[in-house]
Amino acid sequence: MTKAHNLGFPRIGLNRDLKWALERYWKGEIDQRTLEDEGQRIRAANWALQIEAGHDFLSVGDFSWYDQVLDLSTLLGVIPARFKNVTDEYDLDTYFRMARGRAPRGTDTYACEMTKWFDTNYHYIVPELAANQNFKITSEKLFFETAEAQRLGKNVKPILLGPISYLWLAKTKEYHFDKLLLLKKLQAVYLDILTRLRDQGIEWVQIDEPILVMDLPSDWQAAFKETYANLKLPKLNLLLTTYFGDLEDNAELACQLPTAGLHIDVVRGPLQLDYIAAYLPNDKVLSVGIVDGRNIWRTDLRRALSTLKPLHAKLGERLWVASSCSLLHSPVDLCAETKLDAELKNSLAFATQKLHEISELSRALAQGDAAIAKELAASDAARLARNASPRIHNPDVQKRCQNITDEMTKRHSVYAKRKQIQQALYDLPLFPTTTIGSFPQTPEIRSIRQNYKLGKLDKESYAEQIHKQIKNAIQKQINLGLDVLVHGEAERNDMVEYFGELLEGFAFTQNGWVQSYGSRCVKPPVIYGDVSRPHAMTTEWTAYAQSLTDKPVKGMLTGPITILCWSFVRDDQPRFETAKQIAVALRDEVNDLIRSGIHIIQIDEPAFREGLPLRQEYWFDYLQQAVYCFRIASCGVPDHVQIHTHMCYSEFNDIIEAIAELDADVITIETSRSDMELLKAFENYKYPNDIGPGVYDIHSPRIPTADEMVSLIEKAIKYIPIKQLWINPDCGLKTRDWAETEIALKNLVSAAKELRKKYATSRSESEKV
Ligand code: GLN
Ligand code: ZN
Repeated sequence: MTKAHNLGFPRIGLNRDLKWALERYWKGEIDQRTLEDEGQRIRAANWALQIEAGHDFLSVGDFSWYDQVLDLSTLLGVIPARFKNVTDEYDLDTYFRMARGRAPRGTDTYACEMTKWFDTNYHYIVPELAANQNFKITSEKLFFETAEAQRLGKNVKPILLGPISYLWLAKTKEYHFDKLLLLKKLQAVYLDILTRLRDQGIEWVQIDEPILVMDLPSDWQAAFKETYANLKLPKLNLLLTTYFGDLEDNAELACQLPTAGLHIDVVRGPLQLDYIAAYLPNDKVLSVGIVDGRNIWRTDLRRALSTLKPLHAKLGERLWVASSCSLLHSPVDLCAETKLDAELKNSLAFATQKLHEISELSRALAQGDAAIAKELAASDAARLARNASPRIHNPDVQKRCQNITDEMTKRHSVYAKRKQIQQALYDLPLFPTTTIGSFPQTPEIRSIRQNYKLGKLDKESYAEQIHKQIKNAIQKQINLGLDVLVHGEAERNDMVEYFGELLEGFAFTQNGWVQSYGSRCVKPPVIYGDVSRPHAMTTEWTAYAQSLTDKPVKGMLTGPITILCWSFVRDDQPRFETAKQIAVALRDEVNDLIRSGIHIIQIDEPAFREGLPLRQEYWFDYLQQAVYCFRIASCGVPDHVQIHTHMCYSEFNDIIEAIAELDADVITIETSRSDMELLKAFENYKYPNDIGPGVYDIHSPRIPTADEMVSLIEKAIKYIPIKQLWINPDCGLKTRDWAETEIALKNLVSAAKELRKKYATSRSESEKV
């Protein structure tokens, strides 16, 4: 019979149990034993769900105290010297120190780097390899959990990130070091691990090689061949697992590696089915990932079956049915949602529901559609209801999107002309100073929002209290002598959620948490329908702020791409159709801001780069559409309106031209942590508009002196003409407190003054100092 399996289940527990347990352990409130009991409870619950759904394997190795890549590093003995104990023994606290620099036992040290897992919002701990790295099995966790699952009397499938992807994701301190030189040694320890699993009675191991959906240099492709030829063990089957995209030019390679099975993601890469079947050797299992692990929509069972049936006819039992990727990226269980309306709830499936969908599909293949008649009928009904729902389809929105003209995505005049007009109007000094938007989210602010949400504050009192916070922020900025002020975002809990709650077409779950990193989870909004804006969203707060000062106050919006990237997006239309709708709503908001007297408006796009496709061949298309959406939002304004944007990451050399295409009058970016390294992008590319490279790393409790900020800007001056430069922090200040914020901004304003003195060329400029 066609096997049903999953590529991993969320580890956070139904009520973010792992988070609470971890945080208590880190604070010293519970001991290791209690923490471990909690982990065991979560694993047991997850396996019970898989048994109940009738999966053919229980997944092991998907549970992690922090991150599965870090688990693998400790399994392989990749523990950098700074984490070693006196006794040189590995323990759980060593693991936590690697993850976060600190644990109940052991000395504090700086943590390993963390970065995004492919194109997801999950973050992994980057393995740190030395040039002379040795590998040896150091953690017993995987073997222990395998035995734990085996005691349930079911087939168990351990999950292991493969050696080539592991190396690819690792970093070395040595600059030009060829990581592939370590492959031989790494292969040997993988062989030890696989041998031990086999000796524990394991028949199938899922070995993940997600980098196979990316552009691979030929030496890396060759490394696959060599390694997998050596990872063969009698009586042990490997399921080579790929996800997040289409194998494309690596398809033949992946099919021909000597593994017993191959898994492909046909949600992200539906077209690969056409050619995979041709390359697949006659004895290989093909696991088809058809239940979406990255989104929350219910699977259209009938449609999935129409894809699977011809494959089943050809492959018979060699066809397995699976989730597209690990269910780690889905919330745990829809049953926990009690407030979603019935229609929407009926169109969703979280990880627990997805387990059942997988089993249902495999059952239908083996026994015919009649075996899942009830489920098929429910799936059909949900699809029909969704297609016909008046809440999802809004003809006015669709019409507006169809009527977007090229004209609407262009500013009236070129930047140089706009700059003149704006300069005459705002009369900003050389090196103007500003901040990125948010000010410290004090306990007081949080409680105001909380009380309003709980109904303890009525609308008027809420507005009054937020006004008080805005007034405080404006007063502080005036005292500090900043040039372009902000209202401080006291009314916002989160930059996407705030807008999602005010737009039509968005829904919020109560418990739809997904792990972001370690104990941190996010609850992305669900964009289920056409997006529209019933009312202005930000004018009240911003206009109030402007009424308190003659200095310009900058309006603050979250851009269309960031809202898209940080939400669960509907799958019944192309993603960019949704982004366009958001952009149109933002365009209206921009106009309302102007009408209420705001003439400088920032549209944040911190997720602009994150949305880049995994393969470079699709970058152009993505960037073109992303730029287009940004411009829909930002270009419907007169020349005197100054559009800012903000991005926070330090690698944009390869997309600098697209960023210039946004044609924002000013961009502020994160640069201080990389010591202005990123400005190298400007060496060869003359960025045309104004730019504020951040001079204060807001992620660090350390406050730079004015001199340090001056020297950072002097580095920037090597690449960017002084007349284009702004002075600002790296990002919003909401995570800092007022005491440090005020010192940092005081230094920032002094640095600007210092620079003006030094660089003012004409009299009029020096007078403005
Ligand atoms: N305006 C937002 C803030 O200051 C920007 C946040 C971000 O870039 N992530 O908080
Ligand atoms: Zn930022």
